[in-house]
Amino acid sequence: MSTPQPGSWSGGCQCGAVRFRAGSLGRPSLCHCRMCQKAFASVGGLLVTANDLAWTRGGPKYFQSSNKVRRGFCGDCGTPLTYEYPGGVEVAIVAFDRAGEIAPVIQHARAARLPWFDSLTGLPVRTPEEEARAAAFYAGIASRQHPDHDTEAWPAQEGVA
Ligand SMILES: [Zn+2]
Repeated sequence: MSTPQPGSWSGGCQCGAVRFRAGSLGRPSLCHCRMCQKAFASVGGLLVTANDLAWTRGGPKYFQSSNKVRRGFCGDCGTPLTYEYPGGVEVAIVAFDRAGEIAPVIQHARAARLPWFDSLTGLPVRTPEEEARAAAFYAGIASRQHPDHDTEAWPAQEGVA
C-alpha cells in the first residue's frame, strides 16, 4: 500500500449529494454484528476510523441506531456513510474514492456472521458467454453515479421518485 497523502482521503455517496474528506485514517475493519448488517443491508459493516473528517458537499442524515451510536447516510440516495459513537467517527470504506487501498485488517463480532459468509469467495463465476451478454447490457447503461473524485459541481439527479 502506498503512503496516503494527507487530505487525499475523499469520498461520498452514490448520487454525489454528500461528499467528505478525512485527514487521515485509522484501522479498517469488517463488523459482522446484526446492526451493521442491517445498516449496510449487506454482509456487515466495512468501516475505517476517519480523523479530521469534513463534509465538503452537503451532509448526512442520521439514524440513532442505539442509545450510544448514530449512523449517517445520504438522505437522497441512501448510501450508508458513518458510524458515530462517543469515541469517534468511522466511515464506510467503500464510500471512499480509493476504497481499494483501504483493506480491512480485523473482523468484529465474527460469531454473528451470516452462516454463508465464509463461502462467498468460492462461489462460481459467470461463463465467458454470460460475461459477454452482461457486458452488452452494461454498454447501454448511462450512469448517474458520482465519479470517484471531487467535482466542482454535480447536477441534481432527476427522475428520482
Ligand atoms: Zn447520495
